[in-house]
Amino acid sequence: MFIEIDGWMAKLRFSACHFIPNHPKCGCLHGHTYAISVRIEGEQVGDFIIDFERIKGIVNELCDRLDHRVLIAEKDPRLRIGKDKDISVEIIESNKRYVLPSEDVVFLPTASVSAEDLCKYFSAGIAKALRGVNNIRKIHVRVDEGIGQGAGCELEF
Ligand SMILES: [Zn+2]
Repeated sequence: MFIEIDGWMAKLRFSACHFIPNHPKCGCLHGHTYAISVRIEGEQVGDFIIDFERIKGIVNELCDRLDHRVLIAEKDPRLRIGKDKDISVEIIESNKRYVLPSEDVVFLPTASVSAEDLCKYFSAGIAKALRGVNNIRKIHVRVDEGIGQGAGCELEF
C-alpha cells in the first residue's frame, strides 16, 4: 500500500536558479520552478501509513531552504568556489566567473544541481526526517524541473 503526494497539485514547489557547467544551453545561469512529488510505501497503522501533513511539512521545509536562491553543487569538480568572509561567493567555471552575495547562494552536498542530484538531496532529507518510522518500506521521490520533465529515485527503508 502507498500514499502519494503530487508536488504541483499539493504546492510542494520552489523556484531557484542554477547552471550545468559546460552544457551548451544549461551552462548559462537560469531558473526553474521545481515540484517535489513523493510516494511512501508501507503498512497502514491505525488510520494511515503516514499523515499527508507530516510529509508535506517535511518537504516544504526542504523546499523553503532552496526557494529563491542560487543552487551550487559543492562537490562539482568543474567549479572553483571561493568564499570571502561570508560576503560573497566566487564561482569559476571554464571561462566564466560568477560573484554572488553569499546570502543568495545555497550550497548542496552534491556533485551537480541537475534534477537527478536534487532528487538525491530531497530523498536523503525526507529519509532523515522519517528515521524511526518503522511501518515505511520504501520512499519514491520525483523532482520536476518545470512541467513535464523530472528525475525520480527510490530509497529502501
Ligand atoms: Zn536548468
